[in-house]
Amino acid sequence: DAVIHFAGLKAVGESTAIPLRYYQNNVGGTANLLEAMNQHGVKNLVFSSSCTVYGAPESLPLREDFPLEAVNPYGQTKLTIEYMLKDLAASDPAWNISILRYFNPVGAHPSGEIGEDPLGIPNNLMPYITKVAVGELQELSVFGDDYDTPDGTCIRDYIHVVDLARGHLDALKKLDADTGLMIHNLGTGQGCSVLELVNGFADATGERIPYRIAGRRAGDAPAVYADAALAKRELGWRAERGIEEMCRDAWNWQRKNPGGY
Ligand code: UDP
Repeated sequence: DAVIHFAGLKAVGESTAIPLRYYQNNVGGTANLLEAMNQHGVKNLVFSSSCTVYGAPESLPLREDFPLEAVNPYGQTKLTIEYMLKDLAASDPAWNISILRYFNPVGAHPSGEIGEDPLGIPNNLMPYITKVAVGELQELSVFGDDYDTPDGTCIRDYIHVVDLARGHLDALKKLDADTGLMIHNLGTGQGCSVLELVNGFADATGERIPYRIAGRRAGDAPAVYADAALAKRELGWRAERGIEEMCRDAWNWQRKNPGGY
């Protein structure tokens, strides 16, 4: 009846090193999937996009109708797929497509049975924090404390994976109403700095994370957070879990699975 398409490569740095792999896998893979869906008359799709399609934000919070721009090959693949989906929806009214623009998904299922198990040293902040907490890594490098933000560290909109998952179910339900193409941010609408997340982790779990201030990471925007009003209005969805639950559940998963799966 429908496909939820999550598959994709997603490391920004890697995408600048091996862009063709990103185009082949993300864009080519999606084109193949859409062909197969067409052949089988399955025309309902939920697609995992990303807030990276907003590029370097000029104003905040980010709304779905803001200008789009790719600032690295990974972002370019997400943007290209969004355009492909718009063209497809315009070509055939039988298609119902939900594009979900994820902000920063973190956390794990509260059971501790399903979680994030990145290969090698994590790129992302939360899995890095949990690997420091479990003793696999020594200390966190905080990438820059001289941004124009209240504590000088970058601000992101972290969203609990369970809230994110619920958003997909709400989008799927909505597609039944013959929506055509729709686009929604999935974020909390709340900004949280790197140091706020590090301190929030200690408050939620009792685990203090040793860190040092390192240089800025190339390409990081100082602040990124969603306007989450459209998803509330059109899908009846909103994020219900805060930083404390995100940290608690991420730690619960890591502690139960110190070596990953
Ligand atoms: N970050 C950090 N140390 C790390 C990993 C990430 O200070 O080891 C910062 C990063 O600079 C950004 C924020 O944490 O400001 C979130 O980074 P992440 O890679 O998780 O998500 P992004 O928003 O970059 O997709």
